Amino acid sequence: MELKDSVSSIKGIGEKTQKLFEKLGVESVGELLTFYPTRYDTFSDPKPIAELKEGEDGVICGLVSRVVTPGYASRIKILTCIVTDPSGSIELVWFNQPYVKFELKSGYHFIFRGKVRLKGKKLQLEQPKIYKREDYYRLQTALQPVYPLTAGLTLNTVRKSMKQALTITGDMPEFVPLKFRKKYELLKKNHAVTEMHFPKSRETMMEARRSLVFEEFFLFMVFLRQMSLGREVKESSLVIKDNGECDDLIGKLPYELTSDQIKTFEEIKNDLTSGRVMARLIQGDVGSGKTVVAELALLMVAGSGYQGAIMAPTEVLAKQHYESMQKDMDRYGLKCCLLVGSMTAAEKKKVYSDIAEHRADIVIGTHTLFQEKLVFDKLGLCVTDEQHRFGVRQRESLSKKGISPHILVMSATPIPRTLAMMLYGDMDISRITTMPSDRQAIKNCVVGQGYRNTAYNFIRKQIEEGRQAYIICPMIDAEEDSELENVTDYTEKLKDIFGNTLRIDKLHGKMKPKEKNEVMERFKNGESDVLVSTTVVEVGVNVPNATVMMIENAERFGLAQLHQLRGRVGRGKHQSYCIFVYGKESDEIKERLGVLLKSNNGFEIANEDLRMRGPGDLFGIRQCGEMYFKLGDVYNDAGLLNSANEAVTSLEDRELNDIVQKMYEGGAKEVFQFFDNYVTI
Ligand code: ADP
Ligand code: MG
Repeated sequence: MELKDSVSSIKGIGEKTQKLFEKLGVESVGELLTFYPTRYDTFSDPKPIAELKEGEDGVICGLVSRVVTPGYASRIKILTCIVTDPSGSIELVWFNQPYVKFELKSGYHFIFRGKVRLKGKKLQLEQPKIYKREDYYRLQTALQPVYPLTAGLTLNTVRKSMKQALTITGDMPEFVPLKFRKKYELLKKNHAVTEMHFPKSRETMMEARRSLVFEEFFLFMVFLRQMSLGREVKESSLVIKDNGECDDLIGKLPYELTSDQIKTFEEIKNDLTSGRVMARLIQGDVGSGKTVVAELALLMVAGSGYQGAIMAPTEVLAKQHYESMQKDMDRYGLKCCLLVGSMTAAEKKKVYSDIAEHRADIVIGTHTLFQEKLVFDKLGLCVTDEQHRFGVRQRESLSKKGISPHILVMSATPIPRTLAMMLYGDMDISRITTMPSDRQAIKNCVVGQGYRNTAYNFIRKQIEEGRQAYIICPMIDAEEDSELENVTDYTEKLKDIFGNTLRIDKLHGKMKPKEKNEVMERFKNGESDVLVSTTVVEVGVNVPNATVMMIENAERFGLAQLHQLRGRVGRGKHQSYCIFVYGKESDEIKERLGVLLKSNNGFEIANEDLRMRGPGDLFGIRQCGEMYFKLGDVYNDAGLLNSANEAVTSLEDRELNDIVQKMYEGGAKEVFQFFDNYVTI
């Protein structure tokens, strides 16, 4: 058996099981080995019977009596017994497991572990597992891995297969050089992997995890460095001048720029006229007004005779940018054009030639801007909006289209400092921390579904005052076994409730781009009042007249995502409101959502999220922008991130090349995939 062999080379894995593993993204033995547990089962100490509570997994130790075996005639074979300890006694019950009677011996002590259920007025232990006391105490020292499963694949099968796969951990490539393993006290790879799956104790598991997280970060950064994202100041031959058009546009804006916007634009102006290639990131919370700064930069470049491109992650957003910029640019005789996937081939062809022949000065688009067919006449500036939605490679490939055009990227993701340095190490950073002064803080509430009618009345009132509202549902259509709200049914329901008095539209990812655009257009123009949508409106959408954001099943979303969604309102001068509706009630959910009541600041929310999850949450794969690590958590493992960074920085070029070579040979597939599939839209 070899790492690259299919999992079917493992004994007991046939075609059917292989398919199931495939569903979980596990095809080879090597991949199985890095298919880590999501948690571990622990065997807790037995409890006095009198302290058992309904619904829990109860463990008790007691004396067996009154074993009643099912009669041969009965259809459902129920076996019961009574177990007694000094605190009390309880009935145990097994369905259709007649063989249990061979294990159960009256007058003996055993340990039992099963679900505690209420039967009539009394508690029962249902289908408990039976352990001899010595066996149980032995199990207590080890941790049993629990893996994510899919229908048809049992935990037992995964554990058994894993045990076989673990016999070849010695073949796993060791990416982290010995000197770092020593310096940072890391385990050897084969050791760490084995411990991760079947740890001897919690401590050894933690140690294994630490080593593997280090490796994960290490490889990630090796790759970043290999892609030479390192800071490199390039000379620029572009001649860009400030012709006074920007000041003119600033004067014509319906608002005053904030001091941070002015400062950021000054920094950009300096970059553009410095004779060096600009590489700048604008970090600013949702609604802080990043777009207008980008627009000014584009105007300055286009006004100097070059072309500019701005790329957005969704068509809706690209279209929105196009519409707002086109009007402004017209004044200065500059032409904007839109390039998105839903356009017809003929339309695209026209745009390509407009760009190639410089009839278009500013191109606004989505991923379509990466297309090879797209050739610029004189590309001077590339702007990427919502940068975290795009891959690092893609950032590069767009900039290759010009002779070193200036680069400006924008992001609202509150990423930790170290990570920002890693991902944007080649960039200068401008921060927009002040919000436009005409903004009133959004008023928030967290409520149960019982509050809905009140919310609808409130929405109706807001609409009567001329405003608009979003309602977000987690699903598109009704799904079996799901109690989550879905856009399709919800829209119908609202139409029933509001009748013809309100104009209700819906929006979701399965709709055709053209339909989506039309819906967005109507909402933007105030031709619809309520937009029921999935999270497709999450990114960048700007309809300042919308003042209510109501989010159904708010417990289903991450705090950062909820904050982004909330950012769709509070974008204009009117007081805005955000109503978080939870479908399930628990103290934890309320506490988590409560964070959003306390703060309207993305950075604070991310930190609070971290604090609440705490270091105990080992495997909560944390989303950072669209970035996932298998085990690592860029917040909780920030220390390791720093160490890995330090290690990679200290590598000599030769060493770096060796590791990269190994990565290609040894299939550090995830790392590459990560860079390739960074785009999620
Ligand atoms: P984001 O930073 O999230 O991309 P936008 O650039 O979309 O935010 O700006 C949000 C809204 O704020 C837009 O309607 C924009 O016109 C408006 N805006 C931008 N700057 C200011 C300002 N200085 N004062 C008032 N409104 C502003
Ligand atoms: Mg934006």
